[in-house]
Amino acid sequence: MSSGDFSIHTETCDEFDDGMPISSLPDEVTSIDDLDCECWSGFESLDDI
Ligand SMILES: [Zn+2]
Repeated sequence: MSSGDFSIHTETCDEFDDGMPISSLPDEVTSIDDLDCECWSGFESLDDI
């Protein structure tokens, strides 16, 4: 997994226009389960992003 790769989110995500941050994650996001789009489903945890 590449670190800080948010391009997957911007390129294919329906949620992108919803204002989901792409360069950093909000403080309230503490686990992968807090990310409500499918982009991150390939990651085991936030540490892998
Ligand atoms: Zn997304």
